[in-house]
Amino acid sequence: MQCPKCGSDDSRVTDTRVSMDGGSVRRRRACLSCGYKFCTIERIVVDFPCVIKRSGDIVEFDSDKIRHSLIRAMDKELCTEDIIDGLLAKILSKILEVKSDRVSSQIIGAIILEELKSQYPVAYMRFASVYKNFKSAGEFASECKLIEKT
Ligand SMILES: [Zn+2]
Repeated sequence: MQCPKCGSDDSRVTDTRVSMDGGSVRRRRACLSCGYKFCTIERIVVDFPCVIKRSGDIVEFDSDKIRHSLIRAMDKELCTEDIIDGLLAKILSKILEVKSDRVSSQIIGAIILEELKSQYPVAYMRFASVYKNFKSAGEFASECKLIEKT
């Protein structure tokens, strides 16, 4: 890693910290030539599968879209950054378990529903009503019953 001050390639790591979610590592470094101290951040880069939409179009995976639909589904008072991040991390790791270079939007939807179901029934219903495209109050009610049973 080049020193931002003198451009030397030699630096010594003086401290290493792993972020809370384990997704990045922050290192403090000191340049061996000029003594300048700086930080570097290493981030894990993961390749997510492409998404096959209902229409058949294939689009690039976008975790922001999932984040936004979670925020939309969650109760305002429950919707803290930490909760959303935690849910998103679980959902993303499940999507990676699919181990394919393509995943359908239905599967992603099912994974999100599964994650919301036990902990956030209201968010589950909100998300399900969009995702499952309920056409009647009856369909909505029978889904509610399903949740109550589990
Ligand atoms: Zn330097």
